[in-house]
Amino acid sequence: MKAPTFEMNRRSFLGLGATAAVAAGFGLAGCSPQASSSAGEGSTASAAQTVELPVGAPKGTPKTATWCAVPEAIADVVEEKSFDVVVVGAGLAGLAAAATAAENGATVAVIETLSTYQTRGQDIGTVNSSFQKANGLEASESDINDMCLALQRYAGNRTDQRLYRVWGQRSGSDFDWWYNTMLEPKGYGIEIPRWPMEVEYDPVDGEWFPQFCNQQEFTVPEGEEAGMNGGFPGAVGELEAYAKEHGAEFFYEHRGRQLVRGGQPNGTEGRVEGVIAETSDGSYVKFTATKGVILATGDYGHNEDMMQAWCPSQAQLAIDTNVYPSTGNVGDGHLMGMWIGGMMQGIPHAYMAHGTPGSLGSDPFLLVDINGRRFTNEDIPGQSFSDLAEEQPQTVFWQIADAKYPEQLKWSSPTHGAQMSFSGDIDAWNAAIETGDKATIEAMLTEQGVNMQYAWTVEELAEGIHVDAATLQETLDRYNGFAHDGYDADFGKQAKRLWPVETPPYFYSSSGQWAFMLTMGGLKGTEKAEAIDAWGNPIPGLWMAGNVQGMRFAIDYPTIVCGLSHSLCLTFGRVAGEQAAAADSSETEHESVYAVWKEANPEGDAAGGAAPAGGGAPAGGDAPAQG
Ligand SMILES: Cc1cc2nc3c(=O)[nH]c(=O)nc-3n(C[C@H](O)[C@H](O)[C@H](O)COP(=O)(O)OP(=O)(O)OC[C@H]3O[C@@H](n4cnc5c(N)ncnc54)[C@H](O)[C@@H]3O)c2cc1C
Repeated sequence: MKAPTFEMNRRSFLGLGATAAVAAGFGLAGCSPQASSSAGEGSTASAAQTVELPVGAPKGTPKTATWCAVPEAIADVVEEKSFDVVVVGAGLAGLAAAATAAENGATVAVIETLSTYQTRGQDIGTVNSSFQKANGLEASESDINDMCLALQRYAGNRTDQRLYRVWGQRSGSDFDWWYNTMLEPKGYGIEIPRWPMEVEYDPVDGEWFPQFCNQQEFTVPEGEEAGMNGGFPGAVGELEAYAKEHGAEFFYEHRGRQLVRGGQPNGTEGRVEGVIAETSDGSYVKFTATKGVILATGDYGHNEDMMQAWCPSQAQLAIDTNVYPSTGNVGDGHLMGMWIGGMMQGIPHAYMAHGTPGSLGSDPFLLVDINGRRFTNEDIPGQSFSDLAEEQPQTVFWQIADAKYPEQLKWSSPTHGAQMSFSGDIDAWNAAIETGDKATIEAMLTEQGVNMQYAWTVEELAEGIHVDAATLQETLDRYNGFAHDGYDADFGKQAKRLWPVETPPYFYSSSGQWAFMLTMGGLKGTEKAEAIDAWGNPIPGLWMAGNVQGMRFAIDYPTIVCGLSHSLCLTFGRVAGEQAAAADSSETEHESVYAVWKEANPEGDAAGGAAPAGGGAPAGGDAPAQG
């Protein structure tokens, strides 16, 4: 497996706050995921063979996926340690789980492949935190219904509504717990980006993609230097500190390799009782978990095999532009969970890959394609734009604005994905435009961090973007006509964002740049963050949170709730921590009435009727009316 290199310039371009504040290299021979080409290392199958896939492997997993096959059980454990709860992975989800379980009285171990915990980004999208409510963003029950259903629609109805309901009900109080307990006492503050909005309109009903304005960001304590991600990295660090204060022990450079279920590594019956970890010298330590294990191993974006199989559209992008610093994210938790009977969400998996159409961010300025023609309603949030961009011929397209763009920016939606605002002196800008003062224009572009070319005529503009001048003129005439009429007959863009392109100079930029961040498919489970088996029963002793938790996203990352990823990590980390700390260790199996019936009636169909091909009526079951 090739580990893609982390490119600072991409992160800077994105402005997404990918600070690897604590990102660390491996420096670990035995522990390095790159050291083995497959997380299923230990499998007896050779690459040329087809293999027996675990029951939970999603339909479409290639039969040759040796990395997916259940490996031989690790036998040479050299050391054993015992805790109530073992958390695998120290990202936001794992830290929230550890802090919560420890706070609830459990003895906790956190094992982490890398040499420190992981964090990136800064937005966290919750519902009804105290700060949101105090700032006029209180959501009623009906608002929460709307949000949850909008998310469900956005995911093509392929996610688990129960998970969204839990988020809708408790993410605000989970955020309050974090802020009030750990952050406020240390001087962190909270901000809601672009709120209150500069202009009056309804960001939910007034948008093609509703914007629920859930995101909050942390500011750093006074006197501390704010990096690209403000107070977020420090805030994540406070979770680690809090977990430690409550007795949690951290074992960095320990990579979880196999779960122990029913006394067996990779066992498929009974309770999950621990995990075997590999240390930096290649030896194995068994962490017994008397109450249970919480998987929080993140995604599998750094595992090329898994990307090809489960998120193929992004596999190449993940190699070329993976901006995720967590090179430990190779899908270990996904595999360990399946090997003991867990079920993977269907594929292809959703992903996070942000980009913007141009230097003016994902603000809805005119876009033209490689031939100078308009191709979309430009009013699309960042991530959704990346999806569309990938389909464009040569992946080339141009964002075009005119000299009035600084005044228009405020009408952009408060959406996720690199919005720009103009903080310069607007009179100075207008004067420079009026007089054609190139030096001032260029200085102000630089000051605003905007990298755009400009042209004083449509011909020059056409030359700059390599399109036919007559076609471009036609596009501009039509678009400007719509702008003046206040009605976009071609794509229905809202009048308030139909800005004519008619006042030179014309500014243009091409992005074609977007970056892969992570995958968002994982193991199926319950609203209590328990992993489930093929019969839908919770696997005793196994919980999960973060990107290894499935059914939270499908198709696309929902930018209608900015910061949802972090919020789900926090909430389900907390749910998993609470559940694991309170677990009854004597519970070893959940009885499935259906499984018992099915075993006795292998040919019976699920509705209780006869199997279509001569199976006969199931024993004891009256065929229902529809059967
Ligand atoms: C540039 C960038 C910006 C982002 N900005 C935002 C944002 O503003 N808002 C938002 O909501 N989301 C954002 N995201 C996404 C968000 O950061 C992640 O989805 C989220 O942090 C994932 O948290 P996690 O705990 O699931 O996983 P991670 O933080 O990835 O942590 C998983 C950890 O598990 C460890 N691990 C893996 N396998 C093993 C193993 N076998 N044994 C032990 N340890 C293991 C890994 O090394 C890693 O440390 C951004 C992502 C990127 C890349």
